[in-house]
Amino acid sequence: MTRKRSFQLRCPICKKSVKSNDPQLPFCSDRCRTTDLGRWASGDYVIPSPVTDIEPSMGGDSSDSAEDS
Ligand SMILES: [Zn+2]
Repeated sequence: MTRKRSFQLRCPICKKSVKSNDPQLPFCSDRCRTTDLGRWASGDYVIPSPVTDIEPSMGGDSSDSAEDS
């Protein structure tokens, strides 16, 4: 496993690393922030909506349901 302790913030637009104290967070620059806004405006951006209503344990998804008696 490769797990870094100091987690690296990255600009979602250009994937450049962003400092955690960067005022443009999570973007690396004002330019990328504008780019992101442009994507939202043009509707070409998939919004990662917070999914909270899914309960995967409610179905017995054929993984480990051995003892069922
Ligand atoms: Zn960027």
